[in-house]
Amino acid sequence: MYNEDTLKLRAIVAAFAAALSVFPAVLPAQQSAAPYTVISRAGRQPLAARSINGQDMFALDDLARLFALKLKEDTLAGGLTVTAGTQTIVLSPQQPLASVAGRLISLPAAPVRDGRAWYVPIDFVSRALAPVSPVKIDLRKPSRLVIVGDVRMPRVAARVEPLGTVTRVTFDVAPPTPHTVTQEGSKVVVHFDADALDAADLKANTTTDTLQGLRVGDTPQSVTLDLGPRFATSRTSDQPAPAGSSRIVIDLISQAETPAPGTPAQPQPQTPQPNTPPEPPLLDLPNGGGLRPIVIDVGHGGDDPGARGAQGTLEKNVTLSVARKLKASIEARLGVRVLLTRDGDQTVGPDQRAALANNNKADLFISLHASASVRPAVAGAQVFYLSLAGYGSEAQASRGNPEALPVIGGGNRAIEIIPWEMAQERYLQESAAFAGAVEGALREHVPMNPRALQQGPFRVLVGTNMPAVLVEMGFLTNAQQEQQLAGENFQNALVQALTEGIVRYRAAAAAVSAVTR
Ligand SMILES: [Zn+2]
Repeated sequence: MYNEDTLKLRAIVAAFAAALSVFPAVLPAQQSAAPYTVISRAGRQPLAARSINGQDMFALDDLARLFALKLKEDTLAGGLTVTAGTQTIVLSPQQPLASVAGRLISLPAAPVRDGRAWYVPIDFVSRALAPVSPVKIDLRKPSRLVIVGDVRMPRVAARVEPLGTVTRVTFDVAPPTPHTVTQEGSKVVVHFDADALDAADLKANTTTDTLQGLRVGDTPQSVTLDLGPRFATSRTSDQPAPAGSSRIVIDLISQAETPAPGTPAQPQPQTPQPNTPPEPPLLDLPNGGGLRPIVIDVGHGGDDPGARGAQGTLEKNVTLSVARKLKASIEARLGVRVLLTRDGDQTVGPDQRAALANNNKADLFISLHASASVRPAVAGAQVFYLSLAGYGSEAQASRGNPEALPVIGGGNRAIEIIPWEMAQERYLQESAAFAGAVEGALREHVPMNPRALQQGPFRVLVGTNMPAVLVEMGFLTNAQQEQQLAGENFQNALVQALTEGIVRYRAAAAAVSAVTR
């Protein structure tokens, strides 16, 4: 049954057909396009697409087979009638229009006839077919999917952020879908309670030494994170997300900053083995004469360049340059020894860094870094102190079987024997106060990140037996900040701020100990 609109359309169609009298005799320019996939409870099947005059189209015969449509060509008027169940769609070969159950809708192009076959724009499915179909039809052009019926197929998008020693993988899932996250050997697998995943574009925008890649698998309902060689452990959390979606955050923590399960830090043997000479001390250990030194941990180095800016600025060079300046500044201002965990371009492990500080009974430990983000706009300094959230079970386990703090160079140096994993725990309050002082001083000299003061699971801080903070001085992935971080003026501002932060914290700590003594 046709209503008035349909009759009008048929009149238009008839007029055009009369004017043109024939369909184009020459075949329109066309080539095959990447096929779509039709997904229903019954399974999946390909649906061929063709690019005709620059427009992706489906063959109407294919749609008729899939959706049980009846096609009827009206040779007199030159129109085409498509019947879906009890509803009717009328197409015109010259018009990017269709009448769908009596309503006129627009299409991006007119249908095209090739011999006996008709082609319709891809959008015919969503604009004409879906409204009259008795089953739900969901056209997802970006992933080239046609989802038919009640199929649970959440869209999954991912982004990867290298955050120093943590690689953060964030999944946005729409609609929210129950899931589990498991680690299986060299993979972390996110399994969704769904029929399949719409994750055609899923791939890692960057790879790190803890993440080699992202892919759908090992089942159609799973996303697999292929882990990198330095992966140590992971931490998963569900976080707030825009309405209609859910967000899963998986932090992959590098061995550089966290203990690999089953390989706790080994204390140095008291007697060196003949074939394995002990590591030489990183620096001479002069007698401090009672004054405890401050240790500046120079982030990265050697074959670990850290973050890299677009202009080629390397984090390991920025940290060394600032550290040397900061050492001179602190020594001049406070008259205390300052030790650097490296004073050249060499690789230094996290335990060696903490051990240098413990070995020298350092008063304070400050680790220098520069950050990276996938979003170039992200900028500003951040100060971290240790979060033990990721270390709960290891810290618990180590209580029963304590590992001694390592002493560089071996020997008979008397140190307190406490569990390695618990070293920093005793100083968390002091470290929080130290971080606050450093953050406050930085704020007066350099731009700060909106999240300026945070806790983080940094391996290098775990074993330090004194107040310890980690400073991300800025973002090398921000063009302006890269220029700043590589330049003298900004480095001097950082040095002034960090020196003031240390001075303030020491003054406050001295005042507290004077009161409590
Ligand atoms: Zn770093």
